[in-house]
Amino acid sequence: MKLNTHFKDISESYLFAEVAERTSAYIKANPDKKVIKLGIGDVTLPLAPAVISALHSAADDMSVQETFKGYGPYEGYAFLRESIQNYYRSHGVELALDEIFVSDGAKSDLGNILDIFDKDNTVLVTDPVYPVYVDTNTMAGRKVLYACANEENGFLPMPDGKVKADIIYICSPNNPTGAAYSKAQLKEWVDYANKQKAVILFDAAYECFITDKNLARSIFEIEGARECAIEFCSFSKIAGFTGTRCGYTVIPKQLGADGLNANKLWYRRQSTKFNGVPYIVQKAAAAVFTEQGQKEINANLDYYRRNAKIIADCMDKLGIWYTGGKNSPYIWLKCPGGMGSWEFFDYLLNNAQVVGTPGAGFGANGEGFFRLTAFGSYELTLEAVKRIEKL
Ligand code: PLP
Repeated sequence: MKLNTHFKDISESYLFAEVAERTSAYIKANPDKKVIKLGIGDVTLPLAPAVISALHSAADDMSVQETFKGYGPYEGYAFLRESIQNYYRSHGVELALDEIFVSDGAKSDLGNILDIFDKDNTVLVTDPVYPVYVDTNTMAGRKVLYACANEENGFLPMPDGKVKADIIYICSPNNPTGAAYSKAQLKEWVDYANKQKAVILFDAAYECFITDKNLARSIFEIEGARECAIEFCSFSKIAGFTGTRCGYTVIPKQLGADGLNANKLWYRRQSTKFNGVPYIVQKAAAAVFTEQGQKEINANLDYYRRNAKIIADCMDKLGIWYTGGKNSPYIWLKCPGGMGSWEFFDYLLNNAQVVGTPGAGFGANGEGFFRLTAFGSYELTLEAVKRIEKL
């Protein structure tokens, strides 16, 4: 037996473990202090009533001979793909049903999609970055290049014509920086990708937070994207499905290279290695797009948006530079006083009992920056901001 030695090239992900360790050490030493966690990337509100009711009725379907479901279609039930198709139509994007593939979440698809690409592709990601893009490619032995995201470019790096890339990852609105590309900026990326004959793997996991009309909810709102892009999306953040698990990937039918078609290859890959998402979960996901479901999930999103605004307003008041806070649940702030990410982590924990995520954990360019999230409760977000302002 030989194991995959590329795993040796993946840096140990100690970020959240280290955050948890330092936090619990502090709590142990200071049992009287109330620590507020604004570092979490997970949602906290329960599933919407419309989703719960769909789960219950789908579970009942499984108990009746006539409505029982066994294996479903590899690409997802038509009822869910039609709902997704209508959702895209509502922001001006026309998709064919067989361009939509339902999955158990964006993370799996972001990793699995690499099955359809040759090993000898050069990958371009931003720094800082959602670590999944780098680690999945490193596991497969691919070379990864970095585009510098920094204060000067507002953490939104633009393409450099001198850099040759084959697979380009764009996450907008971004995790961890909360920054979101305008439609004009995305058009530059699409033009660059088409010129280079590269593919853009567009992670739209946070599209639901977009309220600004100048921002694209989907890469397919951009002219030319159908020739160069694959989009990944998820029910995790829009509807709190982080524990329920459902997402989808969109691959235009014209996307291909060297006589091979990406859409067909993905179907082939999924039908070989994947047996679909549970019927009850797909029914729950479809409920997100009903009138009642939309009303309820938008109330939840507004709850998180209000938290994001509370944190962003605090940064404005204190004159702290940040990205995100609008169109995103993340606030990416510059550590005050020239502090390093971990130094600021300790400072905030020790003096305000607020926990966030050190930016350095997302890449070298994250050093000196810090991520706060809007996924906590309203009351605790208010309390955290009060403490930060006092400090
Ligand atoms: N993409 C980004 C940028 C994320 O931050 C996350 C989760 O936090 C995911 C994808 C994963 O989404 P899912 O829960 O659908 O696997």
